[in-house]
Amino acid sequence: MVSAAGTTGETPRELVIVSLYPRDMNIYGDRGNVLALERRARAHGFAPRVVEVNPGDPFPETVDLVVGGGGQDSGQGRVAADLVARRDAIRALAEDGVPMLMVCGLYQLFGHRFITHTGEELAGIGVLDVETRGGTERMIGNIVLDTAEFGEIIGYENHSGNTTLGPGSTPLGTVLQGAGNNPSDGVEGARTGNVIGSYLHGSLLPKNPALSDFLIGEAARRRYGAFEPRAELGETVLQARASAKRRPR
Ligand code: GLN
Repeated sequence: MVSAAGTTGETPRELVIVSLYPRDMNIYGDRGNVLALERRARAHGFAPRVVEVNPGDPFPETVDLVVGGGGQDSGQGRVAADLVARRDAIRALAEDGVPMLMVCGLYQLFGHRFITHTGEELAGIGVLDVETRGGTERMIGNIVLDTAEFGEIIGYENHSGNTTLGPGSTPLGTVLQGAGNNPSDGVEGARTGNVIGSYLHGSLLPKNPALSDFLIGEAARRRYGAFEPRAELGETVLQARASAKRRPR
């Protein structure tokens, strides 16, 4: 008997999570996103399998979800060529509905280009319709977004890149506290289909289970045709959200 929650009798259904460039793109606790996804997928009744993909490594045959983090400009420089070489493969997965979350440095490289503050241009893969220019001012601190789909999203930003959106992406949310994509637009992040880019570290997912559930839910629906959430919201999550929100920038 198959239950929609993600198990077939005694055998939990596998979900393959690709952790993209964990060696070079993993700052401000972004690895916490992978751990949160693993843990929450298990709580929903799945058997998550994390595959780390660093430059030169092959993608696994099955990919259910992709998650990537932030890095310094130098880290972005180390992964940019490898990412461009995978452009068609990643675009095909995105067009096929594979959910992806790209934070900060990889958010920038999932756009068309990132022009650093020294004028160097790093080509991106254009999965998101965004473009980023390095600025002179850093945007640092806790940040709160209002989103229609995920409620309030709470995280921590630290970037100097200014990102602007084209018509092919919609913002992840409206900024209630903090800077977001740039100091003037009042919005944060970008979304095209099931691909989400955001500046929010924190880590982002442990404090925002609604986002984890979206990623896991889309992955499960795409691979197994259904998703029935099972995991509860823990008290720790609520406390972490409240405490991050109270902290001054
Ligand atoms: N180097 C980029 C910036 O500062 C990305 C920073 C990050 O990933 N934290 O805009």
